[in-house]
Amino acid sequence: MALDIAEIRTRFPILERKVEGRPLIYLDNTATSQTPSIVVDDIVYNYEHCKANVHRGVHALSQEATERQEHTRRRVRDYIHASSVEEVIFTRGTTEAINLVAASYGDRFRDGDEIVLTVMEHHANIVPWQLLQRRKNIKIRVALINERGEIDLDQYRSLFTPRTVMASFCHVSNVLGTINPVKEMTRIAHEHGAAVLIDGAQASPHLPIDVADLDCDFYAFSSHKMYGPTGIGVLYGRKELLETMPPYQGGGEMIKHVSFEGTTFADLPFKFEAGTPDFVGIAAFSKALDFIESLGLEAIEAHELELLRHTTERLTNEIEDLHIYGTATHKSAVISFLVGDTHPYDVGMLLDKLGVAVRTGHHCAQPLMQFFGIPGTVRASFAVYNTMKEADAFVDALKRVMMILH
Ligand code: PMP
Repeated sequence: MALDIAEIRTRFPILERKVEGRPLIYLDNTATSQTPSIVVDDIVYNYEHCKANVHRGVHALSQEATERQEHTRRRVRDYIHASSVEEVIFTRGTTEAINLVAASYGDRFRDGDEIVLTVMEHHANIVPWQLLQRRKNIKIRVALINERGEIDLDQYRSLFTPRTVMASFCHVSNVLGTINPVKEMTRIAHEHGAAVLIDGAQASPHLPIDVADLDCDFYAFSSHKMYGPTGIGVLYGRKELLETMPPYQGGGEMIKHVSFEGTTFADLPFKFEAGTPDFVGIAAFSKALDFIESLGLEAIEAHELELLRHTTERLTNEIEDLHIYGTATHKSAVISFLVGDTHPYDVGMLLDKLGVAVRTGHHCAQPLMQFFGIPGTVRASFAVYNTMKEADAFVDALKRVMMILH
């Protein structure tokens, strides 16, 4: 059944905001999505009614706060089809989740080992591996893409050698929108004995995630792109691997017993959750999952793809010299483009004056920009609350911008 977008919008007070005296048209959802009242209210409820530190107290408030946090862990386990809560680690976001794996799982890598990344990775899935290179003499090999922005699977396969220990790639590109064949990519990596991390930051708001079906070893994503609170992410890890990995950070909550002679660590998942987590946000994250599930990911995706199809068609037909970066057959609702030789920053600034929020620049994917030989792009990205009217207003605003710039 089609979603009632007008009703959904009423749940996001921010969408009533005006920018430059015009109704806000928010098309920067890839960077972060907006948050419905059900999540904001839960944050307020937590602060007003049950703020107490988790896991430490015997008192009622602490137990309640713990239960609210652990409720979200169970919700996440079910959402991604993990086999147990021990496989669900809360982090600050996708970035921290990937850093955790690079630092902790990477600890076992030996000089001469190799890891495979792709040219479309976000810096969050490049720099942690480069930091590891400071400690280990490992080699990074890079999978390339075709002109539509799709992974060249033959070239990807050819990168694996007996020294490959890890493949790490995004599920969906934050620039191109490409939905990668991650199940196949995982299978190829496993055939070569390499572990697999999937950066799901751009998939989790739009696509169902089934880590059991994907058979990946690690899967990372962020709450703030899923209509949830900022500062919270999830690392899924296969239990057998997590058990063999050293802690990422040390501190409270992650120990069994500490003495100056030696320390023993807590069981999973707490071994990887040093310090006080953002338990308020984690609790409220379950409401964001409720929101997504109440609409249904299939319906969300169908709506977003309709916006993508319509906008792409109008942009291509009506704006001269427009080039879209990323035209994969399997694509999510992200449009990165340039028009002629106009600078993306100028286009973005002028669109903002017309009330349209888009992102401009390299989108934390500088190697991809180097691959295309461009400084950056303008990027419009959709979420469930965007309307056809907004898509049309964006194209019309872009036409005006091009008139101003020419
Ligand atoms: N990977 C991808 C593909 C992303 O789009 C982003 C966010 N732009 C990240 C990783 C990093 O996510 P976060 O900043 O929430 O840690």
